[in-house]
Amino acid sequence: MHVAIVGAGPAGSSAATFLARAGARVTLLERARFPRDKVCGDGLTPRSVWMLEQLGLIARDAGPPPGGQAITSVYLASPGGVVVKAPMPAHVFGGKSAVVPRELLDEQLVHLATAAGATLREDATVEGLALHERGVTVTLRGGERIDADVVLGCDGSPSVVRKLLGAPDFPDEDAAFAVRVYYEGLSLSHPDAYAIFWEGELLPAYGWIFPLPNGRANVGVGLRTDRMRRAGSKLPELLDRFCAMPRAAAELAGGRRVGRVRGHHLPFGTFARHLVWDRCLLLGDAAGFINPLTGEGIEFALESGMLAAEALIAAERAGSFARAQLSSYERRCGERFTHAFRQNGKLQRVFEHPRLIDNLMRSANRSQRVLDELASVLLGEAPRIGVRLVAAVALGV
Ligand SMILES: Cc1cc2nc3c(=O)[nH]c(=O)nc-3n(C[C@H](O)[C@H](O)[C@H](O)COP(=O)(O)OP(=O)(O)OC[C@H]3O[C@@H](n4cnc5c(N)ncnc54)[C@H](O)[C@@H]3O)c2cc1C
Repeated sequence: MHVAIVGAGPAGSSAATFLARAGARVTLLERARFPRDKVCGDGLTPRSVWMLEQLGLIARDAGPPPGGQAITSVYLASPGGVVVKAPMPAHVFGGKSAVVPRELLDEQLVHLATAAGATLREDATVEGLALHERGVTVTLRGGERIDADVVLGCDGSPSVVRKLLGAPDFPDEDAAFAVRVYYEGLSLSHPDAYAIFWEGELLPAYGWIFPLPNGRANVGVGLRTDRMRRAGSKLPELLDRFCAMPRAAAELAGGRRVGRVRGHHLPFGTFARHLVWDRCLLLGDAAGFINPLTGEGIEFALESGMLAAEALIAAERAGSFARAQLSSYERRCGERFTHAFRQNGKLQRVFEHPRLIDNLMRSANRSQRVLDELASVLLGEAPRIGVRLVAAVALGV
C-alpha cells in the first residue's frame, strides 16, 4: 500500500510513523522545511504525552521531550480574583504533561517518521487532488504528480485537501482565533504550571502563560471567531492588554518579548464530521479535532494518526479502500474524542461569565472532586460528573 500524506505536523508524522512501521510505503509531503515554527501554545496535555509514549518518542518513565518543560499543575485565576492550583490528575492518561516549542517537537516527530521508513518531501506544496477508482493522484506546485493508493489530509487549518474534497468550512461559532508570543528573562511564580487567566475585561477571551525552560514562556490569548467578529476585537491588541493587566504584568515583569506576535485559526471538534471519502481520510486540524473549550489539538492530531493507520491497515487486509470500509476510522474517532468535543463545547458558555467562573473556582477550592474535575476538563477530557452538574456548580445551586 502506498500512502501519500499531505502535511508533516503531529497528525501527518504520527500516521506516517505507524504506517511505515507496519510496512506501508509512505510519502510525506510538506510545504515547509524543518525545523519550522507553528503557531501554538506548545502545551502537551497528559493525552499528548501518552501518545508520544505510544509513538516511542519518549519512554514511559522519562521526562519531557528534549527542549521541553515538565508541567505538574494547572494554575487558574478567575475574574473576581479566585485562584486555584490543581495538581495534574493522575487518572488523566497518567498525569504527565509538558510544554515544548513546536519548532522542536515537530522536528522530533518527523524524524521518527523518516526513521521508520517514510520518505519526507520538503518544499512540496500540494495544490491538486484527484480520487479515482484505482488510486489517488496528488499534484504539487510546479506540476509534479504523485500516484498513491490512499491520501491522508493532515495539512492543518485551513486545509487544502479539505477544500479540494468539497467539505464545508468551519462556521464561526465552531472555530476560534488565537495569538501567541514568546517571552524570555522571566521569573515565573509557577514555573511548572499551566497558568490560565480569565480577566473580566477581556471575557470571553482568555489568556495563558505556559512556562518553558530557562525563564522563557509562551504567552497568548484566544477567542471564539463569532465573538471576535461581534466585538470587533483585534487579538494582538487584546494580547497587549492582557500582558499589561496586573496579574499577567506581575508574572511578565523583567522579561522581554522574543520574535513577533503570531496568530492562527482553530477549527473545533464540535463540527468534526466529513472525515472519510473513498481512498481519503482527514486528520488533526484538517478534520477539526480541536477541543472547543481549551483549544488543544496536538493530542487529537497524534491520536487520529494512530487511528487512521489502524483503519488503513485493516482496509488493505480487506482489499478495499472504499468509504464504507474506511468508516471504522470515523467511528473510532467518535468513540475516542468527538463525543467529548460536543460535551466540552456546551461547557464553553460557563467560561464566558465572570460570576460562573468565580463560583466554579470557589467550589473547586472547597471540593477535591470539583477540583479534580475542573483540572481534567481543562486538560481536554469530557466531564465525568456531567455537563449539567458542572453548570449547576458554576451557578452555585
Ligand atoms: C495560538 C494557538 C495555540 C494553540 N495551543 C495549543 C496547545 O497549547 N496545545 C495543543 O494541544 N494544541 C494547541 N493548539 C492547536 C494545535 O496547534 C493544533 O491542533 C495542531 O497543530 C494540529 O496538528 P496537525 O498536524 O493537524 O496540523 P499542523 O500542526 O497545522 O500541521 C499541518 C502541516 O501541514 C503543512 N501543510 C499545510 N498545507 C500544505 C500543503 N498544501 N501542502 C503540503 N503541506 C502543507 C503545514 O506546513 C504543516 O506542517 C493551538 C493552536 C493555536 C493557533
